[in-house]
Amino acid sequence: MHEHVVVESAHLQHLLDALAARGYQVVGPTVRDGAIVYEAIDSVDELPIGWTDEHDGGRYQLKKRDDQAWFGYVVGPHSWKKFLHPPELRLWQAQRQDNGFQFLDESPDIPRYAFLGVRSCELHAIAIQDKVFMHGAYTDATYASRRQDVFTIAVNCGQAGGTCFCVSMQTGPQVTGGFDLALTEILDGNRHVFLVQIGTVQGADVMHDVPHHDAPAEDIQVAEHIVAQTATQMGRHLDTAGIQDLLYQNPNHPRWEEVATRCLSCGNCTMVCPTCFCTTIEDVTDLTGSHAERWRKWDSCFTQDFSYIHGGSVRTSTRSRYRHWLTHKLATWIDQFGTSGCVGCGRCITWCPVGIDITEEVHAIRESPSQESRHGDT
Ligand code: SF4
Ligand code: SF4
Repeated sequence: MHEHVVVESAHLQHLLDALAARGYQVVGPTVRDGAIVYEAIDSVDELPIGWTDEHDGGRYQLKKRDDQAWFGYVVGPHSWKKFLHPPELRLWQAQRQDNGFQFLDESPDIPRYAFLGVRSCELHAIAIQDKVFMHGAYTDATYASRRQDVFTIAVNCGQAGGTCFCVSMQTGPQVTGGFDLALTEILDGNRHVFLVQIGTVQGADVMHDVPHHDAPAEDIQVAEHIVAQTATQMGRHLDTAGIQDLLYQNPNHPRWEEVATRCLSCGNCTMVCPTCFCTTIEDVTDLTGSHAERWRKWDSCFTQDFSYIHGGSVRTSTRSRYRHWLTHKLATWIDQFGTSGCVGCGRCITWCPVGIDITEEVHAIRESPSQESRHGDT
C-alpha cells in the first residue's frame, strides 16, 4: 500500500482531529525555549510555522524562514525515544506493613501516541531501538507497551542540516518504510499542500476523515525532487567503508588522547542520540523507612560509574570512554545488533558543548591509521 494523495495545508488539522477522535495523543514539533522540541499538540498552529534551525558543531540556532513552511527545520534536541523509552521510570514501589512489605501495582496509563513529523533517520533509529528492546532474548515490557500502538506520520526532509549525514548511513533523507502516513511539504508561492503517501490500512482509515484528492504526477515529481535536493545538502559525510576493522585496529591511536583533551565527559551526546539506550537503577526510601521505590533512569557510558564493577571502573579515562562510545556506535553495535548504532542525525555533533564531531574523529583516524591490535588499554 503506497497510494499518493494531496491534502491542502488548510485541511491538515483534520488529520490531527481524526487521530484525536481515535484516541491518539498527537506528539509533534513545536517551538519552546529557543528550540524545536517534541510535545503533545492539538493544533497545527502549534507547529514551528516559518521557523528553521541552523546546526554546526556545538551550535544550534532558530531562524525565521522566508516562507511559512510548517516542517522547514531539521531535528531538535529531542528524539522520539523519550516517549518510548522514558528518561525516568518507576519500576516498583513497596510500602511497609505490620508483617512485612507490600509491593504496589505499577501500571501507569500509557497514551496511544501518534508521532507527527518523524524523519527518515528517526524511523531508522526507532527500528534500531525496536531491535534492542523487543527483538532480542528479552523484551522490555515498558517499551513494547508504548511502541505497539504508535501511529507514525513521517515527513520527508525538505532541507538538510549542517550536521546531517544520513546519506552516509543510508538512513535518509527519503522515507522508505515504517510509517502509516508520510508527508512531503510542497510550498510554491501561494500553493501550500502536502503530498501524502499512505503506508498502512490504519493510515488509509484515518485519511477517510481528511479532505484530499488523488495526487497528480507533477506533485509526485516535485516531492521526489525536493528529497533528491536534500540529499545533496548534507552538512557532514562519514566514510563507513571497512569501519569496523578501522576502529578495531586502532584502539591506541593518538587521536583518542587528543579528543579526550576536548571532551568534557558530559554525556550530552548519549542523551540526545536517538539510539543510545543505557540505563541505571536507583533505589530510594523515605526518611521513615516505610516506603521504598526503584527507578530506572537514562545513563551514559561517559560516566565513570557506568563501567563500575567490583573493585573499580573499567573505563577510568575520558579517552577510554569516548573511544568506547564511538566504537560501540559504529563498529561493535554491528556485531551486537546487525546494524550500525548511528543513523547520521547529527545531534551528538550539534549538542556537544565543545563541538566534537563523530565524523571528524573517524576521518582523523582513517587519515593516519596505526594498525594495532583490537584490545586497547583503559
Ligand atoms: S551517534 Fe550522533 S549522529 Fe549518530 S545517531 Fe547518535 S546522535 Fe545521531
Ligand atoms: S563528546 Fe561532547 S557531548 Fe559527548 S561527552 Fe564529550 S563533550 Fe560531552
